[in-house]
Amino acid sequence: MKILLAIGLLASGTTAAVAEPKFAWPDGRKAAILLTYDDAIPASDLDVAAPQLDRAQLKGTFFLMGKAMRADDVPRWRALAASGHELGNHTVNHPCRRGTFDMPVQYHSESYSVDVLLTEIGAMNTLLTALDGKPKHAFATPCEHTTVGGQDYIAPLKASGLVTLIRDSSVMPAFADGPKIMGNGFVGTSGADMVAWVKQVESAGALGIVVFHGVGGDYLSVTAEAHQRLLDYLAAHRRSIWTAPYSEVMNYAVQHGH
Ligand SMILES: [Zn+2]
Repeated sequence: MKILLAIGLLASGTTAAVAEPKFAWPDGRKAAILLTYDDAIPASDLDVAAPQLDRAQLKGTFFLMGKAMRADDVPRWRALAASGHELGNHTVNHPCRRGTFDMPVQYHSESYSVDVLLTEIGAMNTLLTALDGKPKHAFATPCEHTTVGGQDYIAPLKASGLVTLIRDSSVMPAFADGPKIMGNGFVGTSGADMVAWVKQVESAGALGIVVFHGVGGDYLSVTAEAHQRLLDYLAAHRRSIWTAPYSEVMNYAVQHGH
């Protein structure tokens, strides 16, 4: 088999003596799941999702939005970060395009400029640093909208160095040899359906990004029971499915994928 492989490489004009190793998840796992929670919804994140994650001994990523945060919760966000969950940047005011949802016109992304948004993302980063001590954070685009004031802000944001990774379906890395990236924003989804999706990610050997908002209440929500069922499955299959914070998994994929 080795001789045949060598002949094949020569015939195709490849000069490398050894083929690049195929991408593999660490510790023999088959897939990865990244659980992300958006908008800093205190009741959902701090009262429901994080305690369920802690009981299951799983870690998630919380993309915080400054305007939803309360001073009284600062110790809880600090404790959440100190226990190994990841805090991410989701801006202060969450600008989205006009008509997405009810918000003052000043906060429509059409009313922003790139400079104003980058200033806001920088201020949010400082708040996050005060909570977790890390100098920079991953960023999730509000509403997956990548323009403000008619300008695409992704390239200036990358150039600014204000954030590390960007969670947005339009800017995900694409690998020739690396994991397929699958994403799902669960809203009103049953636990059984969430588990069925995770099984699809597992059979594809993929990197699956889950986006939650409300858990057990609030908006765009799933029930606490459904969330628990998903965590139960992930905990029971932790040897084959790597559930870890966003940056940990994404950095691994970028470093080991090609
Ligand atoms: Zn959001």
